[in-house]
Amino acid sequence: MFEAAVRDEAALRAALAEADIAPMLMVLAQLSGDMAILDEVGPHIHGAWSFMESVPEALKQTVRDRLVDVLKDYAATGRAPPADIPEDTLQRMMSAGVGQTVPPQYIPLLLEETGLGSTDTRAVSWRRNDVVTDGCKVVIIGAGFSGLCAGIRLQEMGIPFEILEKNPDVGGTWLENQYPGCAVDTPNHFYSYSFAMNPAWTRHFSQRNEILAYARATAEQYGLRRHIRFGTEVVAAEFDEADSRWKLDVRQADGSVAAIEANAVISAVGLLNRAFIPPIAGIDRFAGPLFHTAQWDMSVDLTGKRVALIGTGASAMQTGPSIAPDVAKLTVFQRTRHWAAHNANYHKEVSAGNRWAIEHIPYFAKWMRFQLFWAGSDGFHPSLKMDPAWTQPDISLNETNHKMREALIDHIRKELDGDEALLAKVVPPYPPYGKRMLRDNHWYRMLKQPNVELVTEAIDHIDAGSIVLKDGTVHPVDVIIMATGFTASKMLWPMDIKGRGGRTIRGLWGDDDPRAYLGITVPGFPNLFLIYGPNTNLAHGGSAIFHSECQVRYIAQALREMIENGWPAIEVRQDVHDAFNVRVDEACRQMVWSHPGVTSWYKNKDNRITVTSPWTLLDYWTMTRHFVPADYRLDCGSVEGIAAE
Ligand code: NAP
Repeated sequence: MFEAAVRDEAALRAALAEADIAPMLMVLAQLSGDMAILDEVGPHIHGAWSFMESVPEALKQTVRDRLVDVLKDYAATGRAPPADIPEDTLQRMMSAGVGQTVPPQYIPLLLEETGLGSTDTRAVSWRRNDVVTDGCKVVIIGAGFSGLCAGIRLQEMGIPFEILEKNPDVGGTWLENQYPGCAVDTPNHFYSYSFAMNPAWTRHFSQRNEILAYARATAEQYGLRRHIRFGTEVVAAEFDEADSRWKLDVRQADGSVAAIEANAVISAVGLLNRAFIPPIAGIDRFAGPLFHTAQWDMSVDLTGKRVALIGTGASAMQTGPSIAPDVAKLTVFQRTRHWAAHNANYHKEVSAGNRWAIEHIPYFAKWMRFQLFWAGSDGFHPSLKMDPAWTQPDISLNETNHKMREALIDHIRKELDGDEALLAKVVPPYPPYGKRMLRDNHWYRMLKQPNVELVTEAIDHIDAGSIVLKDGTVHPVDVIIMATGFTASKMLWPMDIKGRGGRTIRGLWGDDDPRAYLGITVPGFPNLFLIYGPNTNLAHGGSAIFHSECQVRYIAQALREMIENGWPAIEVRQDVHDAFNVRVDEACRQMVWSHPGVTSWYKNKDNRITVTSPWTLLDYWTMTRHFVPADYRLDCGSVEGIAAE
């Protein structure tokens, strides 16, 4: 385990000279057991992002030298690293590593998320040794990150499953989105499976191709492809009470429709999968290319063209600066303003030293994951709660949120070279985090370019060669790019899903009012499990993959319960579901996403937050950690057990 680290001492020292100090410090404390070093270095670490430190060079060198000695000692003696570090020690280490107190209740979560624990507690194992899974079948809809995760966990348990995927390959959103500049906003050493970390990320926030390659490699590594039916889109699914099975209609690549049956269905179709193109008057009259960011037309060369970019959300933020240098003119049509924050690592490659350390130094990658988890998750969740006593409720929520607002404005002003007129057009009138917080992809600098124009007047209609505003201004354009988002609230659409008694999911939810227990199960729809369902979108931080892993564990435990007990069907109790949703709504009402000055895809037309989770990652992890059979009714299906064909 340690030989690889010390085989070439010069390489080790060269890597440490460049690698991040916090994970290095953590490894040293873990392997040496010397906690005094934490007191020396900790005060110079001011936050969890790697750049939030001012550790003096001499002290860094002490850490490096001591780590080299410790690694050499482990390699020479062959002794095992300390097992199961006491929780109070871990808490001390973690707190020093991020320059903040890490509350003790996070320790079990962090051990699991980083793989620092001795077992993979997200893997679900059988409690009986006579379990028969042969007659059972689970269908997973979608081979994006969530569907692959579900497949991996069911495969580990030996539960027969099939993944139905409408596309010709795995990857979901990362396969479909190919717009220029497409990249992730969550740091990749955290935005990756906890059980399949990738030492090879070249950037802190990788580009689409690298993320897609990771999805493909993971599918290969776990032998999932043989379980996936590509080019197969689920159009309808109906629960048959007579035999407690789901009957699915799938459209195949050749257009034919086939029938598939399963005991249980896991929907992993994603939330941001169905492109939304607004019905702007005259849209059909436009004579040039017009396409959505998620349906990028690779045949269109934008060089030298007059391009319209409608929308200023996360997709636009990445597309605009990527195409602006090539086009003759880029006209950005902004309906409402979005906040975008600077992150010093956003455009950076992972240094060679960090990559070497991740690959060769035991535990370094795990501590780095811890650090990133902490940097981008629950730390500022409390600051996103509205303070009823706050005196400036229109523009901020509380003192911390107000300070954040001012720091954001400072950044924007700097990027705009003090252009106050432009600043007034882009600074949102609502508190930071009201809409999804974006990462500044040189957006503001782009707005200052001579070939870029920001239009804030509303669009009236589209003509054959132009976009016409409400005030009559005509903007001639050759190409229109719709960065207009997705039909997020209309969850599971366009699938036609019928539960018990023929009730449909659309009938229950309407077009934009989805609800589920834990975002996972819905009364009246036995044996149907959702990943990334209602109120599970993370808007304060965290990684969507973290949430998927929580949901998959819960679902795997539900299936275990069914199979071990021979229950043909389980259905969440209405009262349990309703009580949970009362809590969700209450919690959401206090959070920034409910702010009256904000419109976003988090809200439905009645202003209810349907998409976003009000919980901390710790809250949701705790709620989904153990499947509770008493929350479910068992009298909703036939008498045959799930394992019986
Ligand atoms: P979005 O955030 O929903 O943004 C859509 C944009 O289109 C908004 O600016 C919206 O204006 C505008 N728009 C919609 N209808 C319009 C109309 N009729 N006229 C004028 N403007 C209109 O969509 P997105 O940018 O595709 O992002 C969706 C989500 O996908 C993100 O929030 C994020 O969760 C995810 N995503 C992530 C990444 C990443 O990780 N880097 C990248 C892309 C997307 P309003 O603001 O006024 O509604």
